Amino acid sequence: LVALEMVSPEDIHVGFDDIGGLDLIIEELKESVIYPLTMPHLYSHAAPLLSAPSGVLLYGPPGCGKTMLAKALAHESGASFINLHISTMTEKWYGDSNKIVRAVFSLARKMQPCIIFIDEIDAVLGTRRSGEHEASGMVKAEFMTLWDGLTSANSSGMPAQIVVLGATNRIHDIDEAILRRMPKKFPVPLPGQDQRRRILQLVLQDTKTDSQNFDLDYVAKITSGMSGSDIKEACRDAAMAPVREFMREHRTHGRPMAPVDPSQFRGIRTDDFF
Ligand code: ATP
Repeated sequence: LVALEMVSPEDIHVGFDDIGGLDLIIEELKESVIYPLTMPHLYSHAAPLLSAPSGVLLYGPPGCGKTMLAKALAHESGASFINLHISTMTEKWYGDSNKIVRAVFSLARKMQPCIIFIDEIDAVLGTRRSGEHEASGMVKAEFMTLWDGLTSANSSGMPAQIVVLGATNRIHDIDEAILRRMPKKFPVPLPGQDQRRRILQLVLQDTKTDSQNFDLDYVAKITSGMSGSDIKEACRDAAMAPVREFMREHRTHGRPMAPVDPSQFRGIRTDDFF
């Protein structure tokens, strides 16, 4: 079954400034995705040696910003964004899936520049597992044929301004043939201490902190091993601490209380992260 979500760049509200600690990857992604999409002529002087890649892969553990990066790339480049979810295929759906795959590429051509984003690409275009239906192999083949068609020049001598951007937590499960079509592969690893500090700053930018009792560097240190998504969750939890405290002091026994002036809450403290 294939599900398709089409988003125009102005409806995406994630930009590079919202992403913490991935500055180097962002710089490289500009060369691999943004410039080819928005200024394909930059690559024509050394074609085909410098042809723009039609496939880019982001890989790494869950929650470290792959989806965020994909959306920010669409937003920053002004490209349309097609988010393609393809889940387990059955014979019943096969015909439709193939049709949708064709529709995706034809839509992408109409909407150029365009990013076709496939999260968990290993599940969609992964190596053949036992029990996998013949039909899904055929959808894969169809996808690859259409993908290969992107690099052939159009009537004005330019390749299509379309990039297939894949994301995965399990790079080793991806078919060799698919990996070859994504010559640019970017690791998106767990954040180090400096990166966690940056993510904390971003996540807490509108949250009141108790500056005397909040040590950003210390929190960045003790959150070792956490992903960006875990850090956000820890901040959400910490931000609840002043609310819980307030509610303990003003017991209402479940009855609604009048709106509260938020300045009454104390700011969050380092201790709230334990
Ligand atoms: P998955 O593999 O589970 O799809 P992912 O790598 O695509 O994970 P995202 O969906 O981009 O991860 O991240 C989940 C959430 O965690 C984001 O919406 C964001 O709030 C937060 N987050 C993750 N990484 C970062 C980061 N580097 N900077 C800021 N926020 C982040």
